[in-house]
Amino acid sequence: MKRRWPARYRWTYAGLLAACLVVAVLASWTPFAAPIDYYAYDLIYRTFPPQDWTPSSAVLAIDEATFNTSGGVRNLRGIVADSLDVLRPAQTKAVAIDVLLPDASDPAIDSRLAASIANAGNVALSAQLTNGEWENPLPLFANNAKAVGHVHPEENHIDGVGRRIPLEFSAARERHWALMLEAFRLGLPGAVPIVESVEDVHIGGTVIPAPRDGQGRLMWIRHRPSGIPTVSLAELRKDASKLALFHDKTVFIGVTALAGRRDQVLSPVTGDYVSGVVIHAQAFETVVQKRFLTNASNLTVIFVCLLGVAMMGVAFLLLRGSLALTVAGILILGSHFVPVLFFRNDIVFPFSAVFGSSLLAAGVSACYQYFVIRKRMQTTEDEKERYQQAIQWVAHEMRSPLTAIQGSSEMMGRYALSEERRKQMASMINAESKRMARMIQTFLDVERLSEGQMEMKRERFSAPDVVRLCVERAAPLAERKNITMHPGEFPACEILGDRELMEYAVYNLLTNAVKYSPAETHVFITAEVRGANLRIAVADQGIGMDKNEVKNIFRKFYRTEKAQKSGEAGTGIGLSIVEQIVAHHGGKIEVVSTPGKGSVFTIVTPVAPVGATTPPVAAQRA
Ligand code: ADP
Repeated sequence: MKRRWPARYRWTYAGLLAACLVVAVLASWTPFAAPIDYYAYDLIYRTFPPQDWTPSSAVLAIDEATFNTSGGVRNLRGIVADSLDVLRPAQTKAVAIDVLLPDASDPAIDSRLAASIANAGNVALSAQLTNGEWENPLPLFANNAKAVGHVHPEENHIDGVGRRIPLEFSAARERHWALMLEAFRLGLPGAVPIVESVEDVHIGGTVIPAPRDGQGRLMWIRHRPSGIPTVSLAELRKDASKLALFHDKTVFIGVTALAGRRDQVLSPVTGDYVSGVVIHAQAFETVVQKRFLTNASNLTVIFVCLLGVAMMGVAFLLLRGSLALTVAGILILGSHFVPVLFFRNDIVFPFSAVFGSSLLAAGVSACYQYFVIRKRMQTTEDEKERYQQAIQWVAHEMRSPLTAIQGSSEMMGRYALSEERRKQMASMINAESKRMARMIQTFLDVERLSEGQMEMKRERFSAPDVVRLCVERAAPLAERKNITMHPGEFPACEILGDRELMEYAVYNLLTNAVKYSPAETHVFITAEVRGANLRIAVADQGIGMDKNEVKNIFRKFYRTEKAQKSGEAGTGIGLSIVEQIVAHHGGKIEVVSTPGKGSVFTIVTPVAPVGATTPPVAAQRA
């Protein structure tokens, strides 16, 4: 069974995933994400084109041929007047003129155009902001028209593709509705006003969902797949039957010839340049068809991305290796379809947010999983090594009692010993085997202590008794090297904790003092109560250590070079255990040492307060 991640890792993981979500969503709101979102939008748009519908509009184009046959760009107003006149029999619903008429020209032509506008009925003229000032139609024209609408493209247009159109445009304390919106209004029966709310724009029975957004209420244009029927004035003159195309339609008159074209926009459907007038007509079709696309709300975006990130997170939490990566791949692939799904429901969803968040979450999850697994492998390795070393230590420590037992038992079996000698040996075997049993118990206890599995005993015991016992036990070792032990006067005081473990600690300091001292030296053992602490000090006249060595001696398996050369060094685990034991009693160890002169190891541990029954704080951790 797979081990679950530790809680600490799971929280960090959740935090990282949350960060992925925030970064991806915030990034999707920056201008850097816009090209990606637009590209995805265009692709979806082309993949899922709307069904064609009968158009309600037509474009009367002023193309190259028209210019060639009607006096060129200089006669633009005359051509517009001609167009209006030619259209009159077609009984159009409304006419939108996408030609700016801001200043006076030849009075004869101007008054002719004014008359044509007046005769055409429902005419909407164009206005545009240029250099901070509105280029409105001359009053001569405006007074004869029914409305004036703006012909601005979307501002901050990054790639020139006509995806959206601002429904309103306000600047220089003047506001205009879009030309196509005015044309739509004029085409409806009765004088319908445009009514607006924060969220949408109402015209007659049509509600356009275009919230006020500081960008002029942008509306997504649903381009008619087969385009807008377009006939040029030149063609119309040649073939009068084409006039039927404009019957009962809203007609957009504008320049399509490259020479006189004021604006050109890329069609998201074909990718070709089309003139602005076609885009206005397409936007008009969107309104007539009521096929509006709305933007997914921020809340929806965050929720969907959260879902994706959460799924990715769970995948890496539960699965490993290639399986996790496969699921991640499927989720990333799936994220591509989220905008498609929304688009099919007339909602524009930012691709960058959902794709970015799932990609980021996959990357972070994979890295984090790798990190956690590595870390866990490292811990397992460490544990294994620690355990092996600990076993080595036990084996090493057991060697001397075992040798004693072996030797004594062999002697007892081989020689006829006196009763007294036999008893002496039997009691020695007994004592040594008990020592071994104690050692095994201590080892197991320390192992469990360091794993945090064992409750340390909470008993009151006499500190001087422990020290005295340890001195007695270490005496034979000292004698062998002719080292004199000098136990001082021990004040009567009690410690709260585990007597056996404390014995182990003091005994270890004493045997070290003997081990790392030359023969014929002295070891001083003192104990004093200072404040709330008992200080048990063991001072030797041994090989000593430099500062760097002192820093390391509590590390497991560390042994100084001098100690190793002396041939006395053990496994280097004893002091690390001593430190743990003292720490579990709420105390610490101080070491002062001079190379070649000797060392002083001091156990500083709290004295049990009178009547106390609970151990010091640190001991409760055990
Ligand atoms: P061991 O004695 O089994 O090697 P310890 O953990 O008890 O392991 O001690 C670690 C090392 O610290 C010793 O190997 C020795 O180098 C050094 N050391 C410990 N006590 C003394 C001492 N009293 N004087 C000099 N060096 C000491």
